[in-house]
Order: sequence, then structure tokens, then C-alpha cells
Amino acid sequence: MDQVSKIAIVGGGIVGLVTALELLQLPDVEITIFDPSPGKGATYAAAGMIAPTAEMRPNETDSYALQLRAIPAWQEVLGILQLPPITLQQVGTLYVGWDASDKRQLGQLGNVVRKQGGESSHVDKASHVDLFRGLHPNVSDGLFMPGDAWLEPDFVVPHLLEELRGRGVRLLEMEVLECTPNGVVRTGQGAEEFAAVVLATGAAVLSDRFPATHNTVRPIRGITVFLESTEIWSGPMIRAFIRGRDFYVVNRGNGTFVIGASSEEKSTLGVEAGELERLLRDAIELLPFLETASITTFRRGLRPASMTNDPFLERIDGSKVAYSSGHFRHGVTLAPVTAKETSHLVQGILSEN
Ligand SMILES: Cc1cc2nc3c(=O)[nH]c(=O)nc-3n(C[C@H](O)[C@H](O)[C@H](O)COP(=O)(O)OP(=O)(O)OC[C@H]3O[C@@H](n4cnc5c(N)ncnc54)[C@H](O)[C@@H]3O)c2cc1C
Repeated sequence: MDQVSKIAIVGGGIVGLVTALELLQLPDVEITIFDPSPGKGATYAAAGMIAPTAEMRPNETDSYALQLRAIPAWQEVLGILQLPPITLQQVGTLYVGWDASDKRQLGQLGNVVRKQGGESSHVDKASHVDLFRGLHPNVSDGLFMPGDAWLEPDFVVPHLLEELRGRGVRLLEMEVLECTPNGVVRTGQGAEEFAAVVLATGAAVLSDRFPATHNTVRPIRGITVFLESTEIWSGPMIRAFIRGRDFYVVNRGNGTFVIGASSEEKSTLGVEAGELERLLRDAIELLPFLETASITTFRRGLRPASMTNDPFLERIDGSKVAYSSGHFRHGVTLAPVTAKETSHLVQGILSEN
């Protein structure tokens, strides 16, 4: 019988969980995930947009090609989880500008999207009345990006956990206190040696009890607010430049509207009153019917941004340890794409054992 390779994944956010699913495709592997609260990091706060085109920014075009691979990669994951294709709602994004300066910013984004070969077209209310439903009457045109989609992390994460457990993955709800270059992982309960370790620790800043890495993460705090409305219809995601800020609403089609997101270079999880107030004000101005919606919850998370804002995957020098992070605003989007790259790296590590 072939020898079984033990692989540890430190971090059970969307990146760690999808990576585990990908690694299960390797022969003769035994996977252990360590996380004191799986799925409750940045993943918990995410609106779940898989929106490569609306997410494009002039200084971040490098990750666009990666993001374009996200929708087929997610369809593959949903197939493995036996979830219906409709779990991924490809409803598109309607991007609008609030005032003249916001409209100019939208025009610039449109130019970048065109240059990158992204799909978007100018639309107005007269010819696309359904797209503009619920929006303030002054908003009468924008860019429609039909390829963008969303899924609900709250729905997908429990299915991922169930699938992984069902396929024998050990899920240990423990913090990893130390990881050595030769694959020894230490928790409060003891130490265990692995043939390969993947650090998928999101925005956590690694202590000197982890191997030294070339990449570091900057935590960028964000909040999303979940609103419940009696207005129910399915529509596109709405995105806006509003007074220079970037704002979005994901209409879940069941009366839930997720609005977001603030973006503060902070590593604490507090929520400032002004941060929440700005989000709610933008929401009510843009979609006046939300004034009577109930706030069901708000969530905060730390986005893991790299120094370049692109995700990174690093084999830590001469070690059995790989580090996958820096997914920033796109971790839900990119998890199945970077998981494939991580699997290649892990195979390289295992082949040297
Ligand atoms: C408000 C907000 C909205 C967002 N919206 C979207 C969106 O619409 N679309 C999109 O694609 N992305 C979105 N993002 C970004 C996305 O959420 C992140 O990029 C993604 O969650 C990163 O996944 P992760 O698994 O790397 O990190 P996390 O989800 O933070 O998971 C990291 C995990 O590692 C664990 N961990 C850390 N250190 C240790 C340790 N020492 N031992 C054990 N476990 C450890 C933590 O407990 C945590 O569960 C949003 C983020 C925020 C904050």
C-alpha cells in the first residue's frame, strides 16, 4: 500500500476549506484543518460577490485574468458539493455614479474595463427599466456588467465543512501556536508532524513562531450590513460611486439586501458609528425603499491585503510550508482558483519527501 501523506491546513476560512477540497483529489492524502472558528473570519463578513468586472480597478488589473477563472472554478466546486448551479447567481452588476464627479469616475472605470477586454455596456432606465428598479429617480444610466455573479458564503461554507468531514478530513477547532519549517504544527494540545503544511491564515499576522515569509499581509477592515425588506424581486447587483466612495448592494432575491462595504486600514474589529452611518446613508439615498428595511445584522472582517494587493502563494524557503493569502477583496472569488495553484505547490513539496 502507498504511504499516506499527512497534510495540515492552518486556517479554515474560504481559502483553507476550498484548498482542502482541492487537495482531496490527490492520491493517498490525509488532511487536517486547524482553526478555532472555521468560516468565521473575513469569510463571514463577505457579501459573496464573484464580480471580476465590477471589481476591476486601474491599479489592480493583474488579478483580473485570475478572477475571470473564478466562475468556472466555482461551478466545479458546486458540482463536487452537489449543489444546484443556481447557487451561483450570475445576475450581473449595474454600476452607477451618484453625482457628476462620481459619473466621471465611472467613465474612467469603463475605459479600464474596455482596455482589459471586460464585458460591459452603457444602459439607461428608458430601455432597461428592470435593471433600475428601486434606484433613486435621479439615477438614470450606468454600466451593466453581465458576467458578474454572487453566491452566499453562509450557504456554501456549511456544505464545504460537511463534505470535508464526510470525506475524512479532520477539523480541529484549535489555534496553531507554532509551525516549524520541517512541518511540525504545535497547538495547546501538543505537536504533530506533517509532510506538508499550508498556511491559509487570512489577515492574521504570523508571529516569529512561524517560518519567516517573503510576503506579509495588511489587515483591511470592512463591514457589511444585512437588511430585510418587504420588497422582493431578483435583480442585478448594484454598485455605485457615491460621493467618491465605492458602495454595493447584493439583492439576494428573498428580501435580504447585503450592503457594503467600508474599507479601513485597521487591524481591530471595532465598528465606528460613522462607518455604519455612511453605509446606511448611501444605501437609503441610492435605494430609497431601504429606509423602512430592518437591520438584521452587521458583520466585520479583516481583508488580507498583500503589499501589491494581489494574492500570493509562497513556498517558504527550503521548508515543507506553503503560504496562501493576500486575497484582499477577492477571497471568495479566488478561493477555487488559488486552491489549484496551492495543490501544485503541495505536490512539489510531497514529491521531495
Ligand atoms: C466586509 C467584507 C466584504 C467582502 N466581500 C467580498 C465579496 O463580496 N467577494 C469576495 O470575493 N471577497 C469578499 N471579501 C474578501 C474575502 O472575505 C476575503 O478575501 C476572504 O475571506 C479571505 O479568506 P481567507 O480564508 O484567506 O481568510 P479568513 O476568512 O479570514 O480565514 C482565515 C482563517 O484562519 C484562521 N486562523 C488564523 N490564524 C490561525 C492560527 N494561528 N491557527 C488556526 N487558525 C488560524 C482564522 O480563525 C480564520 O478562520 C470581503 C471581505 C470583507 C471584510
